Amino acid sequence: MLTDKDTYKDIGARKQLVAALKEKGIADQRVLDAVMKVPRHLFIHKDFRFHAYQDKAFPIGEGQTISQPYTVAYQTQLLHIEPNDHVLEIGTGSGYQAAILIEMGADLTSIERQEKLYLKTKKLLTRLNYKGNFILGDGSNGYLPNAPYDKIIVTAGAPKVPESLLNQLKTGGILIIPVGDNAVQTMHTLIKKTDGSIEDIAMNQFRFVPLIGNQAW
Ligand code: SAM
Repeated sequence: MLTDKDTYKDIGARKQLVAALKEKGIADQRVLDAVMKVPRHLFIHKDFRFHAYQDKAFPIGEGQTISQPYTVAYQTQLLHIEPNDHVLEIGTGSGYQAAILIEMGADLTSIERQEKLYLKTKKLLTRLNYKGNFILGDGSNGYLPNAPYDKIIVTAGAPKVPESLLNQLKTGGILIIPVGDNAVQTMHTLIKKTDGSIEDIAMNQFRFVPLIGNQAW
């Protein structure tokens, strides 16, 4: 039976995952510590339990996926999370990325557009005692009631950077977003400077499910 209790196998598998992420270049110890803490096997269908700590994406229903741990760690590392940072995540999905951010001390608002996923994931995160603001809606508009944010992370592929996300970022804030076409996206780090200008740094390439909405596909 699947319970919330970790088995020795889960803990051992997580240690191996952390070692694999280090090997692939994830150097921020706080990100690695969060990966070591979050029970990824509870965020995916029980049929995949014994594969949960492989560095792979898995289907989570509604045509969506839980991102590969490397992708989660890569995006999280770029965010430079500080305790109590006010963070917006777009694309709650399985809730795994949300749990990592909350473990790192983020004050998180996470938004998901698929109602079934939203309801299921909100229930899971609450059961696991991960506290945040979980919202149903189109995150391509950001989420104005809790703005402005220190950090914004988009976990679906966008055709362009939505203007609303830049508007909802604090001065000095960081937005991490994959931008591209349906086949491949480039990860971008956007930093809002004190003079209001935006520094845009293009990073590695990834493949995400599409960001669908008003300021998206
Ligand atoms: N962070 C997720 C995780 O840890 O499992 C990744 C989930 S998946 C790669 C991307 C998610 O973005 C999907 O659940 C999808 O429904 C959601 N999504 C796509 N467009 C969206 C939008 N405009 N607003 C909110 N969520 C969106």
